[in-house]
Amino acid sequence: MSVHKEAYQKIKAIVNAANVTLVAVSKTKPNEDILSLYDLGHRVFGENYVQELVDKEAALPKDIQWHFIGHLQSNKVKYIAPFVHLIHGVDGEKLLQEINKQAIKNHRIISCLLQVHIASEETKFGFDAASLLELIDSGRLSNYPNVVIKGLMGMASFTENQTILKKEFDGLAGTFNQVKNKLNNVHFDTLSMGMSGDYELAIQEGSTMVRIGSLLFGARNLVL
Ligand SMILES: *Cc1c(COP(=O)(O)O)cnc(C)c1O
Repeated sequence: MSVHKEAYQKIKAIVNAANVTLVAVSKTKPNEDILSLYDLGHRVFGENYVQELVDKEAALPKDIQWHFIGHLQSNKVKYIAPFVHLIHGVDGEKLLQEINKQAIKNHRIISCLLQVHIASEETKFGFDAASLLELIDSGRLSNYPNVVIKGLMGMASFTENQTILKKEFDGLAGTFNQVKNKLNNVHFDTLSMGMSGDYELAIQEGSTMVRIGSLLFGARNLVL
């Protein structure tokens, strides 16, 4: 068992003080690790891979709130639609359309975050700020009545440079506030940004939800 309970208590104290939600990112980690955080009272877990999430959901307690935080392919939405609590990485309208379709089939409203591309790296998915604002202004979100857009998600550059990270988080927080003002919608209240290496900075910059894996569960064997 390799859960870092002291780290959990420390992170919990920081996020609670800031009224921020902690998503414990358990990708590649065994069910026993999830259960040991569960036994401490934790219920919010994040996974990146559809098949792994489906297997864990079937095996673990039903009151866990499962967040899908990875890159989601449209053809896999159907596997998680029956139970997923929040999908973080919605990065295009085709995916929104499919989530809406599967939500209707399952008689559910599915909560989603729109992913915004904030890192300098080419590889990270997401809307750029301009096309996000275009989508919001177009009114097309009303085509997806079984999807509720709860907020935005972003992944900063893979760097320890605080100046770069701060600039990226600050930029995303600015976009979040712009969209929030445009939508004027009580459901739009979630800004998912910050991971093990940068969550405290992300919280300072306005994050309301952090996604933390390695600080809680130890390093992952595979670079995924
Ligand atoms: C893996 C992952 C995390 C957690 O990363 P750590 O650095 O281990 O905290 C957070 N968000 C996303 C989208 C991830 O893929």
